[in-house]
Amino acid sequence: MRILVTGGAGYIGSHAVRRLQQDGHEVTVYDNLSCGHREAVSAEQLVVGDLLDGPLLSQTLKQRRIEAVMHFAALALVGESVTDPAKYYRNNVVGALTLFDAMRQADVWRFVFSSTTATYGEPEVMPITEKFRQDPINPYGFTKLVIEQTLADYAQAYGFGYVAFRYFNAAGASPSGDIGEDHQPESHLIPLVLQVALGQREQISIFGDDYPTPDGSCIRDYVHIDDLADAHARALERLQPGRGEAFNLGTGTGYSVLEVVEACRRVTGHKIPAVVGPRRAGDPPELRADASLAKEQLGWRPQYNAIEPIVETAWRWHQSHPHGYGAN
Ligand code: UDP
Repeated sequence: MRILVTGGAGYIGSHAVRRLQQDGHEVTVYDNLSCGHREAVSAEQLVVGDLLDGPLLSQTLKQRRIEAVMHFAALALVGESVTDPAKYYRNNVVGALTLFDAMRQADVWRFVFSSTTATYGEPEVMPITEKFRQDPINPYGFTKLVIEQTLADYAQAYGFGYVAFRYFNAAGASPSGDIGEDHQPESHLIPLVLQVALGQREQISIFGDDYPTPDGSCIRDYVHIDDLADAHARALERLQPGRGEAFNLGTGTGYSVLEVVEACRRVTGHKIPAVVGPRRAGDPPELRADASLAKEQLGWRPQYNAIEPIVETAWRWHQSHPHGYGAN
């Protein structure tokens, strides 16, 4: 299939691009490189453009005779979405609407969407199924929920066929070691811990040890980036006009922050000093997926079901690219 991948130069998008190409698809990456990296994709496949540029989107869809769109391009920093919601609603929501208009003009109806656990807010019961009420607690989560709702309406009215994936904590890197996670600034736990192992940071700060969890630190469900890519590849085969589906993507196993740090110590052989700091605003104590629907419906089977093998792939990437895609 001819597929447009927005945000294909970013962390999750670049791994999906790699997988789609391996499956024999013809991939065009559409990315404004605000967070993505030119080095993560090949020059021939990259169109540098903004989601808000409707004419360029239409032209790209038509000229490249695109049959399906995978939409990864989005701003995704929860804290920033609280302090600058206008930026998030404009880029994420208006950007998606602009993309949908271009799709309708070009008669493209297949769509795969990167949604998030943040649409659920702070559920009190674990694990989270797709039936849980979606009740976001920050603008980032709301932008993703608005797009999910828009998609449901567009499926009904215009025959869009879509799958929305609600990711838990994307982690790890391609075992090939040549693409991986590079956020500026970095805010995610595993890359920050590995930066300590590389000697780039003195210590890791544990954001709170007084949560109602067995060791007091927050529990998350870390899912390998190639397993996410696999689900996206499977979704393509399921799309039907007028049908919309949403699936959680997580392993179902939770790891506390302290357990993640310990796993990083084992993998790297480094002491990794840790200090307990205050809680980070808006962090629920536990987020863990029930992904049985994706398993049943897509035949999805995550290959990485424990934290150590996930950290091993991340470590390979960070060791070979200690400064990310920049000068090494
Ligand atoms: N975390 C931490 N110290 C850090 C960064 C993150 O203790 O320097 C914790 C954070 O509070 C959360 C978990 O690690 O419980 C995962 O955070 P991350 O930002 O990687 O992903 P999120 O769960 O926010 O999507």
